[in-house]
Amino acid sequence: MRPIDESTVPEWDADAEVVIAGYGVAGAAAAVAAAQQGAEVLVLERAGGWGGAAALSGGFIYLGGGTALQRACGYDDTPANMAAFLTAALGPGGDPHKIRLYSEGSPEHYDWLTGTCGVAFRPAFFGEPAWEAYGDEGLMYSGGENAHPFTAIADPAPRGHLPCAGPLTGAPNGEQGRGRLLMEPLVRTASRLGVTARYDTRVDGLVVAADGRVCGVRARSFGRTLHVRARRGVILTTGSFTYDEAMVGAHTPRLSGRPGAAVEEHDGISIRLGQALGAQVSHLDACEVAVGVDPQHLIRGIVVNAHGQRFINEDTYAGRIGQASLLHQGNGCWLVLDETGFEEADAATRAAEQLRTSPTVVAETPTELASAMGLPEGALESTLDLYNRHAEQGRDPVHHKAAAWLRPLKGPLGAVDLSPRTAGFALGGLTTDTEGRVLHVDGSPLPGLYAAGRATTGIATGGYASGASLGDGTFFGRRAGHEAARR
Ligand code: FAD
Repeated sequence: MRPIDESTVPEWDADAEVVIAGYGVAGAAAAVAAAQQGAEVLVLERAGGWGGAAALSGGFIYLGGGTALQRACGYDDTPANMAAFLTAALGPGGDPHKIRLYSEGSPEHYDWLTGTCGVAFRPAFFGEPAWEAYGDEGLMYSGGENAHPFTAIADPAPRGHLPCAGPLTGAPNGEQGRGRLLMEPLVRTASRLGVTARYDTRVDGLVVAADGRVCGVRARSFGRTLHVRARRGVILTTGSFTYDEAMVGAHTPRLSGRPGAAVEEHDGISIRLGQALGAQVSHLDACEVAVGVDPQHLIRGIVVNAHGQRFINEDTYAGRIGQASLLHQGNGCWLVLDETGFEEADAATRAAEQLRTSPTVVAETPTELASAMGLPEGALESTLDLYNRHAEQGRDPVHHKAAAWLRPLKGPLGAVDLSPRTAGFALGGLTTDTEGRVLHVDGSPLPGLYAAGRATTGIATGGYASGASLGDGTFFGRRAGHEAARR
């Protein structure tokens, strides 16, 4: 981990103006932007090919403020409206400068993705309760913007932008994860601009010149140690620390032992290399939490904790339910639905097989169900009484689920144990400024060192919306590439 003194480097094995560690989404955006500035760019990638978690991902890119896609789908949005939502939903403790810049720059960033990089989006809105669109629609709500409490904070606008197979990808729609439909055009654009990549090359050290500037990296490739000189800057984009057990245990212990929604290369190396140079870190406790349940089912039922009590509106973003469940309710939560609810959801859904939802326990009465769930006597019964009484009147004064989804839960009931279904990834990392410069603990930029993506703290510092990672990874990765090349 310790910085390597340039005077101890035996010889440089390779050389470029900008050296990027990691060829996932932030690395690809940084590479394109640096190459657009005319810099000679070399990307070092640990895996056997580009892609990272981004290529496996759902492909949501969180953008708004009035993008061309939002307008084409008939939605109004403004940067101020978007910033109000992000501040309320993705915090606490978000960087107001990043949020403002991201919201204001979002429409132009969309144009860059489509125009410069050839990422394609179909101008169609998908409005079903779902984790992902069923077809190749390009826009959907992805953060609870159209549900309590955010409807009272900002005008609802869908901002989950989903790429489709375009002319550059050659991949038919539906055959590959949407994340690949973002990554492939980004990497093709980088190659077209002259970016070179070296795979199976794992960065494990930063080389520092006598004046304190980061001037290169050390890497391992097929048993050899390499030193790669970076004449303008090094950009760290190796992802989160989700697959480093020690870091997870120390910072996001609720994720310990749970499936990591990332790739195993996310071992926190960039964060530790930066820390060894005196870098500031922030929000290491923050994590995204997905709950592997079909929102078609969630929205028709009630979610209760181990006391049999509701704690959230079930029509919100399913990731908010996951975070609330794992982080605030001890991961002991259940979805309760009646037979009608299961049947309606089963008939409505076209979600992927792994999200299909069937009950863990079933019973004829609330009391039998509560007993099978191991809940305190009478707790579920009173929760259902209250929910049903209000639902009959078309309102939910306790958690404010929208009237359209309120229906008393009657007759035979089933409950889905949510505890094995939560999985997540770490959100915090190196503290960077809006230009992707890694900041020292004293607040000044560390010369020659840049970072982006989930190795850094982005726009999500506690809450989450689908698309925040591909969104801020490309947005601030691009700025880091531009800044490093400009130096
Ligand atoms: P990555 O895209 O993972 O790129 C990091 C790269 O660095 C990898 O290629 C890795 O191999 C490489 N690397 C690691 N260590 C080294 C090293 N020492 N030297 C050289 N290279 C190294 N986010 C969204 O915004 N929208 C979504 O729809 C979405 N869906 C998801 C679905 C799934 C199933 C998963 C797993 C994640 C999803 N995410 C989504 C999260 C998102 O994919 C990641 O947070 C995002 O890719 C992070 O970007 P990154 O550039 O930091 O990391």
